[in-house]
Amino acid sequence: MEAIGHQAPEADVVAHLAEIRARIARAARDGGRAPEDVTLVCVSKTFGAETIKPVLAAGERVFGENKVQEALGKWPELKELYPDAKLHLIGPLQTNKARQAVAFFDCIETLDRSKLAAALASEIERLGRHPKLYVQVNTGAESQKAGIVPQEADAFIANCRKEYGLEIAGLMCIPPVDEQASPHFALLNRIAKRNGIAELSMGMSADFELAIQLGATHVRVGTAIFGKR
Ligand SMILES: *Cc1c(COP(=O)(O)O)cnc(C)c1O
Repeated sequence: MEAIGHQAPEADVVAHLAEIRARIARAARDGGRAPEDVTLVCVSKTFGAETIKPVLAAGERVFGENKVQEALGKWPELKELYPDAKLHLIGPLQTNKARQAVAFFDCIETLDRSKLAAALASEIERLGRHPKLYVQVNTGAESQKAGIVPQEADAFIANCRKEYGLEIAGLMCIPPVDEQASPHFALLNRIAKRNGIAELSMGMSADFELAIQLGATHVRVGTAIFGKR
């Protein structure tokens, strides 16, 4: 059955959340944008339902999980309490889990290869369920990291659209840990613009304000809300 998962004190989590919301709003206004134009994706991976509940109770509705199996273990219970909660898959997806991902997630942020595009297209057709799809771009071209490399992004996006009939709603990136994030965020923004893509998932606990300055529509924040994993 479901693992209980990491726990964090409710008061801490709620206080952290208030602070993150204020910082997101400030960063948006500083960039001449409306705070509502930036969606906070609360990254709840490894944390148990009891730690996630106060964040739902405080009004958050968009959550990020990196493993299909873990999400299936803890979210049915939470979705019963909060049916309008939305789940983003932010971790790598194996083609053999495409069906579960399409059935359960509202947004899959990690589309990065043709085989997965084909699997998602066929499951979307079969299930009649249409989660939003983001293409993950490996902006640092790191060999160990998932995502399509920047030079291949335009062709891959075009292929997803034409070959598989997929609608690409957004792009996602995870910059290299040891580099300035801003060039990576700016690159993702340029790839989105020239491909007519509106949503940009970029920025984590350490750099979400910078990402907002550079056009993020979705920031994925875990540690700064829930604490250390
Ligand atoms: C874990 C994770 C995050 C959250 O990172 P924090 O530094 O804890 O905010 C964001 N995006 C992805 C893809 C992740 O795996």
